[in-house]
Amino acid sequence: MRKTISNQFFLHYLVVFVLVAVATVSAYFFLIIANHLAEDTFTKNRYPASAMMRDDYRFIDPAPILKNGGSLQIVDKDYRVVVAEGKDALPKRQLTPAEFTEFLVESKSKDRTLSHDILYNPQGEFWLIITFPTSFRIDFEVKMNPKAATGNFPRVAFIFGLTIAIYLLLLTALTIVYSRITGSRITESLRKLRDGTRLLREGDYSARVDLRLTNEFAELQDTFNDMASRIEEEIDLRKKSEGDRRQLILDISHDLKNPMASIEGYAERLLHAATMSEEERRGCLEVIQKNSQRANRLLTELFELSQMDSPEFSLHLEATDLCEVLRQICGELVQELERAGFDYEFAIPEEPVWAWLDIDRFGRVVHNLADNAVRYNPRGTTVSVSLTVTDDQAMIHFSDNGIGIPTRLKGDIFKPFVRADYARTFETGGSGLGLAIAKRITEAHGGDVVLCSSSGKGSTFRMTIPTI
Ligand code: ADP
Repeated sequence: MRKTISNQFFLHYLVVFVLVAVATVSAYFFLIIANHLAEDTFTKNRYPASAMMRDDYRFIDPAPILKNGGSLQIVDKDYRVVVAEGKDALPKRQLTPAEFTEFLVESKSKDRTLSHDILYNPQGEFWLIITFPTSFRIDFEVKMNPKAATGNFPRVAFIFGLTIAIYLLLLTALTIVYSRITGSRITESLRKLRDGTRLLREGDYSARVDLRLTNEFAELQDTFNDMASRIEEEIDLRKKSEGDRRQLILDISHDLKNPMASIEGYAERLLHAATMSEEERRGCLEVIQKNSQRANRLLTELFELSQMDSPEFSLHLEATDLCEVLRQICGELVQELERAGFDYEFAIPEEPVWAWLDIDRFGRVVHNLADNAVRYNPRGTTVSVSLTVTDDQAMIHFSDNGIGIPTRLKGDIFKPFVRADYARTFETGGSGLGLAIAKRITEAHGGDVVLCSSSGKGSTFRMTIPTI
């Protein structure tokens, strides 16, 4: 027999059923023994024949015996019932000696519903028979009297054997059915869990199990489903980051290709041109310089971004007055903004607002935002910086009323290499990494930076930094 759960169930139930049968048979035998031990105490005759006996039976008073539910008979020497009071213990009025002897023999048997107390009076030559019903009896015995038994013994043995065989067959059939029914509930749940696990192993991470149970299997199901969804999330994340990584490599190679090709082209021209005017030569060198600066900036920012992604990256945090730092940075920006023909408005409170800051990195974020405002917007644009404080955070709004960023890019603009206008970005020498770096830095401060404005109305970036 295969060691499946349903087979094991069957075996267990069979053992239990057999044990129950053994226990039942044992209980039967124990009760027989108990019956024998207790039997004597069941009969209580308060009127023994010895106490009631008189030499003349007419003086024997049957009243108390009758009152207590007993009966009294007197049998004379000719086996004639001369007095019969109460329920008859003897079948006839006139008995033969054999019948009376049989009665005497039978009266000693404990298997009767009546108990007899019989005494012979030699003077009066009569038997006094006092009979009381046995108060309580328990009979569990199968009796066989081999001398009296007549009949076909092999047939009886066959009938009993058949009965036992049918009983055993029924027992086995019931055990099989019952074990299958109870076993199937467990095996069904296990099968569903096994199928789920198989699907998971085969790469179907959307596999979930629904057992519709509330027992321990439901806990297992919840754990399984929880595990499956975590794996699914993990795999999705891995796929996404794999995709992001591939995209990043594509973007890097794409962005490096143009300046490198340009540098190569102009360098070759310089090398191989037979004659070249001083002006032309200078032009070539300027292009080479511009493109190498561009490539250099791209690589520097890329290095910076990967540093921030590495687990070793940490900030040099100091408890700092945010307002003071922001005022200093804005002071540095004034010159740049004026040179670019920009207007500016700063609204920074006088009272200190304390936060844990890496001053250099924080400055880098504000400079990135300011550089972008200057690079992508026309002269006459107004740049405004304001700081407000809520319960536990400082909010810095950095906005301009320039060309704005398309709303469709709102979620993606902080991703590396995402630009609103590629041609213009190329012209301005942007790497598409500035906002990604800004986001990483603010996140490392426990804050965030988001784009709030919609296109056409300029751009507003909201930076939040937790206060102390
Ligand atoms: P880049 O190095 O190209 O400037 P960023 O990540 O700093 O990269 O900016 C991403 C893109 O967002 C830019 O290419 C530009 O198209 C757009 N952008 C950022 N700031 C502004 C702004 N203030 N006004 C208009 N467009 C902006």
